[in-house]
Amino acid sequence: MTKILVINCGSSSIKYKLFSMPGETLLSKGLIEHVGEQGSHIHDHYTGLKIILDKVDSVCAVGHRVVHGAEKFKKPVLVSKAVINEIKKCCDIAPLHNPANLAGILACNKLLPGTKQAAIFDTAFHQSLPDYAYIYGLPFEYYKKSGIRKYGFHGTSHAYVAIEAARILKKPLKNLKIITCHLGNGCSITAVDKGKSVDTSMGFTPLEGLIMGTRCGDIDPALVTYIMRTKNIDAHSLENILNKDSGLKGISGISNDMRSLEAKARKGNKRAGLAIKIFVYRIRKYIGAYTAVMGGCDALVFTAGIGENQKGVREDICRGLFFYLKNTPRVLVVPTNEELMIARQTYDLVNKKGKRS
Ligand code: ADP
Repeated sequence: MTKILVINCGSSSIKYKLFSMPGETLLSKGLIEHVGEQGSHIHDHYTGLKIILDKVDSVCAVGHRVVHGAEKFKKPVLVSKAVINEIKKCCDIAPLHNPANLAGILACNKLLPGTKQAAIFDTAFHQSLPDYAYIYGLPFEYYKKSGIRKYGFHGTSHAYVAIEAARILKKPLKNLKIITCHLGNGCSITAVDKGKSVDTSMGFTPLEGLIMGTRCGDIDPALVTYIMRTKNIDAHSLENILNKDSGLKGISGISNDMRSLEAKARKGNKRAGLAIKIFVYRIRKYIGAYTAVMGGCDALVFTAGIGENQKGVREDICRGLFFYLKNTPRVLVVPTNEELMIARQTYDLVNKKGKRS
């Protein structure tokens, strides 16, 4: 039995799961909160990870979730000095996530010297996008010199549920066209053709694409400067509004939580109903687009909080959706398990196995 510890360091939290591999048994899991917050006794990620490592023993390798790997990381890698430097470079384009992910890696380096660590990137699965899907209609030097392009996120989740869908359908992934909908607080949708991500709704940052709990998703880019000018707010304040006060929360004026919105809409609250309609409409547009991109769709997969639990939303999304297709896609609900996917990839790296599919 090989014990793989999976670590997901956020800015103020650390989630962990311990797996026994290759059997994929979950041995333990936990969450440390209030990391680095005022008044908390957990001053930093090092202190938090020390608490976790006191609870687990005989860890063979650690797999870390890292949000942004830019174009440098197209697949999971074992951590080295060079890898740490490259992850540092990505902090500029993922300032809310990568510094915390890196803090977790550095802490484990100190706490578990000699234990192999792997970095598993949210962006890696989408590195298979063709250039015509990831380059924006901006001056080309922005891409060439500054790396401004679509990267996409939630890659580990999209990859996991696509693999699961193929298993459920008893067909090889390489014969399938799958649309995966990760609908949680953050929401994204991916076209997976023959096991590869060929387009995805999130972009340079996770703000692009679908309406989310508190993020706006696609808007007219001219609105950014228009709102700054007319409301007299600076870039930082607007970023906060687009990320934290928009989406379901902004439209409804009630909540970012889809369960509350459904309950309010049932009682006749118009804005809650409108927020759900806009949410559903945007997803339907993307499903139509991605069906066209792949020239068909064999399976539509729902995952994450809303995707797994909210039947009403799923039914609204699917109503009359595929009437123009010769073959109606299978609609599947697949609980995501990003931690297991990270454990598998870490195990494979440690054992130097090739890529699974
Ligand atoms: P996150 O992106 O924070 O991981 P989740 O995947 O937990 O988000 O999804 C949160 C969303 O899922 C919320 O809108 C919530 O209302 C909805 N949801 C519906 N049912 C559940 C459930 N049983 N557990 C968690 N979230 C649920």
